[in-house]
Amino acid sequence: AVLCTHVYSWLKLAARSIFCKIIAGQIPSMKLYEDDEVLAFLDIGPIAKRHALVIPKYHAAKLHELPDEHLGRLLPVAKRLALASGADEYNILQNNGRGAHQQVDHVHFHMIPKTSPKEGLIIEWPAT
Ligand code: ADP
Repeated sequence: AVLCTHVYSWLKLAARSIFCKIIAGQIPSMKLYEDDEVLAFLDIGPIAKRHALVIPKYHAAKLHELPDEHLGRLLPVAKRLALASGADEYNILQNNGRGAHQQVDHVHFHMIPKTSPKEGLIIEWPAT
């Protein structure tokens, strides 16, 4: 496991994952939130309006490969996205391995809002 930003700024190696490329700004994303540890952005193939992903900047394919010190900000940010979506009901989902429906080998938490009665009255996403 390698910190994505270190791969680019220090070693200048190829990306570890498509999400590393998003972190590095090499491919675009609709960023919702970013700090030193995590990045949140809209899912490119949403299964619900405002379907978002939260990822650690540290590259690890599966949750058990992610050091605890890089885990701490993920759920607080997922919670913030859920609040900002305005949805009263939502799913937080995290898949590990192909058999468990993981397609992108970089730890990510889905935040998937359910249809909200507040549709159209959604508060703004947090600033990036
Ligand atoms: P699944 O496709 O079964 O949900 P994952 O849990 O690995 O598998 O989720 C990967 C998610 O990443 C998918 O929801 C997919 O739409 C999303 N995704 C893939 N590429 C991008 C991208 N470039 N920008 C934003 N989201 C992406």
